[in-house]
Amino acid sequence: MKRWTRSDTLALALVDCTSCRGSGMRVGRRGGIQPCNCVLRAIFRICYNRFRNCTQKEKHIPRATLDLGTGGKNSRYIWSRKDEEFIADFYLVSKRTLNDADWQIFRFHFLLGADWKLCCRRLDLDRGNFFHSVYRIEQTLGRTFRELKPYALFPLDEYFGCTPRNEDPDEWRAIAKAGDEERRFASEGLNAEVESPPLKTRKVIPIRPPLRRMEQAPPEEEAA
Ligand SMILES: [Zn+2]
Repeated sequence: MKRWTRSDTLALALVDCTSCRGSGMRVGRRGGIQPCNCVLRAIFRICYNRFRNCTQKEKHIPRATLDLGTGGKNSRYIWSRKDEEFIADFYLVSKRTLNDADWQIFRFHFLLGADWKLCCRRLDLDRGNFFHSVYRIEQTLGRTFRELKPYALFPLDEYFGCTPRNEDPDEWRAIAKAGDEERRFASEGLNAEVESPPLKTRKVIPIRPPLRRMEQAPPEEEAA
């Protein structure tokens, strides 16, 4: 499960939110720190706007991109059509996440574009219940879009740009430690690279083991 931090939420939070006071994090019912609902709704709306944008684009020129896959050392270049993939992911993830009642509201309101009056009449809801449901749907899907593994729909630059951020906390700690050491040496007027061995942050697997250079044997003298 994803560990939310304030860096994830601060830019998305509502400034005047009464739950988180603009920080994007709040204390949950069981005492843990959770992302605020204003952040989850913001994530949903960003993904939804991109979904609408992708569906309304001109389709007469199909656009394929060549991206490097994110399969670690076995990654390879693959052709992809990101807009179509995003449309399919948005639709299928939403359908899989929501229960039947919420899916009907989602389908009428967000996919077919019906306003609240039409949705209330069709689904036999009152106005209050309808907007409560819409808020609940936005929060549920916002969290799912961000926490989805292995490829989250949000942030969009990662989805469309194939630039996954490193979320391994051990590696971040190692990088932070290396930075601290470098600053400490700099304050003492020393060169960190000379004074301390480089900190290994990731085990690098070489493409192939280094080969020993073989001395060429001198040509044998022809027998006289
Ligand atoms: Zn909030």
